[in-house]
Amino acid sequence: MAGAIWCVVEDDRNGLPKKVMAEVLGEAARLGGPAEAVWLTDKASDDGLKQLASWGATKVWLVENAELSPYRGGVWAEALAELAAQQSPKAIFGPVTSRQRELLARLAARLGVGISADSVGFTMESDRLIATRPVYAGKLLSRVTWAKSPWIATLRPNVFRPAEAVAGKTAAVERPTVKIPSARMKFVERREETSTGLPELTEAEIVISGGRGMKGPENYVILEDMGKVIGAAVGASRAAVDAGWRPHRFQIGQTGRTISPKLYMGFGVSGAIQHLAGMRTSKIIVAVNKDPEAPIFKIADYGIVADLFEVVPTLTQEFKKLLEK
Ligand SMILES: Cc1cc2nc3c(=O)[nH]c(=O)nc-3n(C[C@H](O)[C@H](O)[C@H](O)COP(=O)(O)OP(=O)(O)OC[C@H]3O[C@@H](n4cnc5c(N)ncnc54)[C@H](O)[C@@H]3O)c2cc1C
Repeated sequence: MAGAIWCVVEDDRNGLPKKVMAEVLGEAARLGGPAEAVWLTDKASDDGLKQLASWGATKVWLVENAELSPYRGGVWAEALAELAAQQSPKAIFGPVTSRQRELLARLAARLGVGISADSVGFTMESDRLIATRPVYAGKLLSRVTWAKSPWIATLRPNVFRPAEAVAGKTAAVERPTVKIPSARMKFVERREETSTGLPELTEAEIVISGGRGMKGPENYVILEDMGKVIGAAVGASRAAVDAGWRPHRFQIGQTGRTISPKLYMGFGVSGAIQHLAGMRTSKIIVAVNKDPEAPIFKIADYGIVADLFEVVPTLTQEFKKLLEK
């Protein structure tokens, strides 16, 4: 089937694409491409364009307009739908992020096509794209395809092999004329979250998660100390979030973030199915729990039956020693 695979850029709001785009562009190229980036932003940068090219984008459709900031799903979806109608890509991919979950679902509705949300695999079968995506909180994997193109999909981070950056590659930059619709919502105020200084949950290669066993918000400092030593993000179970110990953006699970890091370590997390839905595709799972019957041990690669308040400081010390060597 003719047409490109578009990769909708997730950026850091400061003119640089996030590293998850290496995974999306890498997968688009692996499927036969051509892999093209579509970048809606109020602020692009030359370094950002070079970065996209180095990850294999053969072309960048750059829609740069001050009216695109701040992000509002309705505005972005309408602009993207107009561009898609002009250029007829065969597929439109984006990473699973808070913005793109909404944006690509809106786009699919607008274009009257299907979406494979949270995809974890793709194959081409006689010119038709087949996506694999988890259902029933990750208990089953379903294979889906589309009745019509463009095939729209969001891709779960840390699942697809990232494209290796090749310096010096170039991409044609197209600046199409797209009408930016006026927003139905008025933007009132933006409040920046204070940064923890640790990696972002969905981008991190290592995630440490604390559950109700942490006993209180003051104890997360021991997980953050470990996070600083090994470069890990710190997340939480819903029990901890509901108790007000951590903000909702740190929640892992069915009604929180979906993560797929190289290493997940759960401390005082029982392993309820709704939590597993957000982390079961992690490459290596380590669980520390006082209760040997805790369900998390069923999916853990390594388990320690112990009091987390003894294990965490010891592990942190050992990691420190190892990394200082
Ligand atoms: C519709 C719906 C959506 C949901 N979405 C989510 C979601 O997105 N994410 C999510 O996480 N949950 C979600 N839940 C809630 C989920 O069912 C569980 O209630 C929740 O995950 C439990 O959190 P927990 O493991 O921290 O707490 P608990 O189940 O109470 O487990 C605490 C664990 O800590 C252990 N522990 C206690 N003290 C220590 C210690 N000192 N050292 C070591 N271990 C200790 C205990 O043995 C226990 O296993 C959802 C539920 C519903 C109904």
